[in-house]
Amino acid sequence: MTAAEPGNVRCACCGEHSPQPLQPASNEFGARDLDHRPPETMRSTMESWLQECPHCGYVAADLGQAEPSDRKQVKTDRYQMLRHGPYVSRLSSRFLLRAVLDSLGGDRERAFANTICAAWDADDRDLKDAARSLRKRAANYLKGHDEDSVDLKLRLLDIHRRASDWKSADLMARHLAEQKLDPQTSAILAFQVRRIHAKDDAAYTVAHALSGDLGAEHRLRILR
Ligand SMILES: [Zn+2]
Repeated sequence: MTAAEPGNVRCACCGEHSPQPLQPASNEFGARDLDHRPPETMRSTMESWLQECPHCGYVAADLGQAEPSDRKQVKTDRYQMLRHGPYVSRLSSRFLLRAVLDSLGGDRERAFANTICAAWDADDRDLKDAARSLRKRAANYLKGHDEDSVDLKLRLLDIHRRASDWKSADLMARHLAEQKLDPQTSAILAFQVRRIHAKDDAAYTVAHALSGDLGAEHRLRILR
């Protein structure tokens, strides 16, 4: 990972300037987790994925840009109350505040994705209950969202499994099994079904799912 140099950014919501981390140059070496968590070095750069204005609390990948709905929501009492948490970490709060703005702006998929980032932060802090509850919160953003792609459904399936929500995971697996899937997606689905039956909520990579190596599944579980 390349260290991020702070830049001075003008907030698109309140107009104040603040030093903010810039996106470091990073790459991905290896396979992503089944919930799309990237491998290193990208994995270790979460601190720089979002910027947070210390004045008004606006959160975005680039504080210099804001949708009209962001500008409106950041000023509300509700958003200002949400800034104070409680959260498991400052990093978690940033992802969750962005998820609230995404959801209020009508982008539920992005709210889902940002809430999963907060779950990854809880994973890194070994806060298992918090991580489970954040995954359930992420899944809730997609409730009643009918036009989901197969990719998104596959990611949601992993989120249900990692949240130990076996009933939702099983339902999603059955739903996906009824669809026309490419061979890679079918292999990942078969892997997920085995893990669901084993009530296994551990993290696995796409490579583990595709290798079909059960030994690797167990070895990885022991390591985590
Ligand atoms: Zn601001």
